[in-house]
Amino acid sequence: MLIGVPKEIKIHEYRVGLTPAGVRELKTRGHQILVQRAAGAAIGLADELYLAAGAELADTPEEIFARADMIVKVKEPQPSEYRQLRAGQILFTYLHLAPDPAQAQGLIDCGCVAIAYETVTDARGGLPLLAPMSEVAGRMSVQAGAHALEKAQGGNGTLLGGVPGVTPADVVVIGGGVVGYNAARVAVGMGARVTIFDRSTARLAELDARFEGRATTLFSTADALERAVNQADLVIGAVLIPGAAAPKLVTRAMLGQMKPGAVIVDVAIDQGGCFETSRPTTHTEPTYVVEGIVHYCVANMPGGVARTSTFALTNATLPYVLALADKGWKQALRDDAHLRAGLNVVDHKLTYAAVADALKLPF
Ligand code: NAD
Repeated sequence: MLIGVPKEIKIHEYRVGLTPAGVRELKTRGHQILVQRAAGAAIGLADELYLAAGAELADTPEEIFARADMIVKVKEPQPSEYRQLRAGQILFTYLHLAPDPAQAQGLIDCGCVAIAYETVTDARGGLPLLAPMSEVAGRMSVQAGAHALEKAQGGNGTLLGGVPGVTPADVVVIGGGVVGYNAARVAVGMGARVTIFDRSTARLAELDARFEGRATTLFSTADALERAVNQADLVIGAVLIPGAAAPKLVTRAMLGQMKPGAVIVDVAIDQGGCFETSRPTTHTEPTYVVEGIVHYCVANMPGGVARTSTFALTNATLPYVLALADKGWKQALRDDAHLRAGLNVVDHKLTYAAVADALKLPF
């Protein structure tokens, strides 16, 4: 099969759909790989590395879309991209179709086979191609929060780990899923006092066992949360209610009770955020201040560490890319119900109920 990897064109997107290591695996199995020139250049994956791994280089995205049997990307296709897709061509990438009727219509019209990273499932009920980005965002949230706590950034001037003879910072993590666990791990590692809230008692038990007393777990009630947030130097929002907007767990009124210069990092901002005062920010201007509390609400945190994120994402996607390339999409989806859950559009029709519902389109 001929696999095409165009350079991402969304603003400030430096990730790439395949690494040279992935190219080599595909090549060894007899596939051809066509990578756009400079696709990985911004994150240290030079063209020479792709060539050495066995890829061919293309000068333009047009050449890739015209020749490839399967397009492997990172972000959802932009209009100039989905207009070039053709009937029967496989597209494997993040799609996030529910809030994007124009893209959905574009994919329906062209007749491609669109498989979305974000709806591929695993045997434990997880989303294995979303999890790596949550791991990145969770770990990064503490790094971002620690920086924002510095005085020159508007923070209260507390060092997360303290020093001998000086108390460390209090870190509250709301939501103990993939983001929350990874945030708590880094915060504990830096020596902070960490409390993790969740609504799932099973999850709290798991976290309790993993941290062995190095973090406190608490059942998430408004009452307990309010008390912890009032004492916190850093609050990390990491809740998710699948398919729904994030609940607003910290209100504007609660900010007034918090320590001046405390920091909130709202990782859940991509689902609307779990702080009433959150609004999406960017890597170029990541923070703003409301009621003396520094807010960091970057909606695409993994993009800030595009090199790590590329390796994390492609580690997770590569087995599926190999299956699709080796077997063709029909057989690969027949053999793997979890990959089948990724199918969003085929034969000019939506095949994912939640997306069809959200867009009020036939399913
Ligand atoms: P997850 O499903 O693994 O974890 C969410 C956790 O929230 C679950 O354990 C759930 O029980 C808990 N929860 C639900 N309601 C709660 C409540 N009221 N109080 C406390 N806990 C509650 O999800 P995840 O992968 O950790 O993702 C968390 C959020 O981070 C999502 O909104 C995701 O889209 C977002 N995210 C954002 C970025 C970014 O760049 N900003 C990157 C990755 C993920």
